[in-house]
Amino acid sequence: MIYKVSRKKASVTATEFVKSYRDPERMASMCGECPSFGKSWGCPPHDFNVASVSDGYATVELMATIIEFDEQVRASCRARAKAREVAERAMNEVLGTLLPEMYEMERLVPGSRCFTFRCRMCPEGCTRPLGQPCRFPEQLRYSLEAVGFDVTAAAQDILGIGLEWSKDGSLPRHITLITALMIP
Ligand code: SF4
Repeated sequence: MIYKVSRKKASVTATEFVKSYRDPERMASMCGECPSFGKSWGCPPHDFNVASVSDGYATVELMATIIEFDEQVRASCRARAKAREVAERAMNEVLGTLLPEMYEMERLVPGSRCFTFRCRMCPEGCTRPLGQPCRFPEQLRYSLEAVGFDVTAAAQDILGIGLEWSKDGSLPRHITLITALMIP
């Protein structure tokens, strides 16, 4: 294992979460810079009101899953291509466990909805660039960012975690995946 995984969780009221962190216009303009913008049905721009998937809940359980690389691994991943390969592999491995857990949490709490990560359900690629409908609309879950939440601010304020990005393409110390379960 070339990384360690830890978790941090906290619950807040949904009213407070929506009021403090949902800002779809600002987040959509930031998402516009992402290569996935408009390329996945899980990502903006959406043809529905994003409030429709995050209104009507009582509680938000916010969770950070932190992937931590040690210095030795980081030193061997200074090159952009290598760093990307190692980061993608680690994220895929962690998401392979995390996503089924999120779906199970949702199943155990009737009426709840999980917010996960950019949809990766189809290994052959998303149908959106082909102009075709989503293959699994019932299973598609959005990330918090994709429906207008400022995840950086929420992670900092609620979990005390500063999200970290590499400025030079090398491997960062941490990759943090922010997910949530919204509960009625
Ligand atoms: S389930 Fe497949 S088709 Fe639907 S958003 Fe995800 S990757 Fe795209």
